[in-house]
Amino acid sequence: MPQYDLIVIGGGPAGLMAAATAASKGASTLLLERMDRPGRKLRICGKGRGNIGNIAPMDEFLSHFGKNFRFLRPAFSHFFTQDNCQLLNSLNVPTKIERGGRIFPVSDNAQDLVDAYSGLARKQGVQIITTARITTIVAQENTFQISTNTSHYSAQHVLLATGGASYPATGSTGDGYKLAQSLGHTIIPPRPALIPLITAGNTASRLQGLSLKNVRAQLRVEGKKIAEHMGEMLFTHFGLSGPIILTLSKLAVQALDQKKKTEILIDLKPALDPAKLDARLLRDLNTHGKMHMDNLLKKLLPPKLIPICLEQISLSENKMAHQISAQERKQLRLWLKELRFVVTGYRPLREAIVTAGGISLGEVHAKTMESKICPGLFFAGEILDMDADTGGFNLQAALSTGYLAGLNAAPKTDLATTSIMG
Ligand SMILES: Cc1cc2nc3c(=O)[nH]c(=O)nc-3n(C[C@H](O)[C@H](O)[C@H](O)COP(=O)(O)OP(=O)(O)OC[C@H]3O[C@@H](n4cnc5c(N)ncnc54)[C@H](O)[C@@H]3O)c2cc1C
Repeated sequence: MPQYDLIVIGGGPAGLMAAATAASKGASTLLLERMDRPGRKLRICGKGRGNIGNIAPMDEFLSHFGKNFRFLRPAFSHFFTQDNCQLLNSLNVPTKIERGGRIFPVSDNAQDLVDAYSGLARKQGVQIITTARITTIVAQENTFQISTNTSHYSAQHVLLATGGASYPATGSTGDGYKLAQSLGHTIIPPRPALIPLITAGNTASRLQGLSLKNVRAQLRVEGKKIAEHMGEMLFTHFGLSGPIILTLSKLAVQALDQKKKTEILIDLKPALDPAKLDARLLRDLNTHGKMHMDNLLKKLLPPKLIPICLEQISLSENKMAHQISAQERKQLRLWLKELRFVVTGYRPLREAIVTAGGISLGEVHAKTMESKICPGLFFAGEILDMDADTGGFNLQAALSTGYLAGLNAAPKTDLATTSIMG
């Protein structure tokens, strides 16, 4: 049976980084990936452009991870955004910064990231075997026996980097949870984070395909404002999606699971406070007194929203601007500031950008990524109970935990002087 110092299970960004790092420290390293090639999810990241990180400073960066942020500090201290950009640059994948501090490869091609990290792993001497789906891991007297349905391997250390349970077509089907459970770990129930929301009625479906930029979405639970974000959103046949909705979705999922009344309110004119918006409406109505309301609204709204607006505030499209009463103007103003959607559910886990839940962080040493339950077992990436907002935070967390896990999963030898950073 082939023997290794370390076997890494899963060839996503976390596994590739971990394997490359361990191999650079002198560990004989095997990476087993169930798909026909590594990095299938990384390849589709950022709509195929690969939002690989974010230039936010450490504390702000950590704040995007919610309650589990502390666990990540040691990993980020070892390998953070600048380290990754420097590494990618040395691998001929220069990066650029876009809106919101998001980092992308200059080529706008996430496949370049896959090629860079897998090339790095191979260059460091990692053996990569694809179409190898691990089904069992058995811990036996300081070694691990690792099996697919047809092959068996043995290693001193094993590192689980099998990702979450969303987008199963990329290979991440939640296998790692069962494998970790079989070794004694507790799994925080996986649930969707960064997931589109389903809304009541047919308003969203009538607006399907409409994308709004520079709007503010507010999440209200039981009538109370919980969070809000400004940016871009999208209407779909079932409800709401797009970056700001995805960012609000984790809290919305929590509220829905607790059967609480959940609403999204969209401020279509966030740059104008109520007084300024009223002044603007008054001016438009006065200047274009003879214009029908459906025409006048073209100055304020995308065409698809106009019939919805007229219906919801009970205005006839044929009413002329000069006929609008003060009460009707107020209703229009309120509607523009608070287009309301009742959220009735969320899309399934398989459609989530990230899986919340996973390996309980209390059972993993944050400084080494080693299991507190099963010595010699390490974790990295989305399999852990961590998830962040959109913006490049999740990939950086996968890479940073991969780096730290790889560093510690390598045997401690005198040879351990090299580094993936060259
Ligand atoms: C559509 C989409 C877009 C995204 N865009 C971004 C973005 O732009 N920026 C960002 O920061 N994050 C983004 N994310 C999130 C990001 O892709 C993940 O957080 C990240 O890929 C997690 O890395 P990982 O290595 O932990 O897991 P994964 O990338 O999921 O890799 C896990 C690997 O393990 C393999 N595996 C699973 N089970 C087994 C098994 N039993 N045996 C062997 N191998 C196995 C899988 O095939 C897979 O290759 C996006 C996610 C999606 C779905």
